Amino acid sequence: MLVPSLADSCRTRSVKRLISTKYMKGISEIRHYQIGEVQVVVMWKNVRNVSLKVAPPDGQVRMSVPLGYSEAKALQLLESKRDWIGQAISKVKRRAEATPTKHDPAMLRAWAEEFKPIFEKWEQRMQLQASKVVFKMMTSRWGSCQSKTRVLTFNLMLAYKPRECVEYVIIHELAHIVHPNHSKDFWNLVAQYCPNYRRLRHLLNNP
Ligand SMILES: [Zn+2]
Repeated sequence: MLVPSLADSCRTRSVKRLISTKYMKGISEIRHYQIGEVQVVVMWKNVRNVSLKVAPPDGQVRMSVPLGYSEAKALQLLESKRDWIGQAISKVKRRAEATPTKHDPAMLRAWAEEFKPIFEKWEQRMQLQASKVVFKMMTSRWGSCQSKTRVLTFNLMLAYKPRECVEYVIIHELAHIVHPNHSKDFWNLVAQYCPNYRRLRHLLNNP
């Protein structure tokens, strides 16, 4: 889907400012816009730089701008990012469509059982041990690792992914026990056990 041109939208009055709210705590103001089919939220915050992201599952566009940034400038910036926004929305929506919304609990339980020996195999090979493994429905990540407590969390959606991708996520999260960041050393460790991690990561995020 293409984001309609803001200039056109302004002319046809399809940029509607929906809500404007004043907030406390770092956020001074939030404004919602409807630009054609696209929902945009602009937040004026106590930040230095502008950040722009497209959030799952519906592709809502969220932009944070520093306090004092003008509305016209914010809209102009959105306009200049039109192509990127359009692509990001399609990607987020494609991902949401590829993800079943109704889950079969028995299937997920069976998958968690299958996961166990695969996970233990990597714990042994990498000589790293989790204190606990948690499964959860997550919307924006495949897994997470609390390196201090060694509690690893995996997205149950992995049940719908190829096994090699699941193995990559296991290796990734176990590697976070040693490196709680995405530094060069972290990726070197991942590559040591999963040389084709780039391809698998791409496969996971571009269904
Ligand atoms: Zn990570």
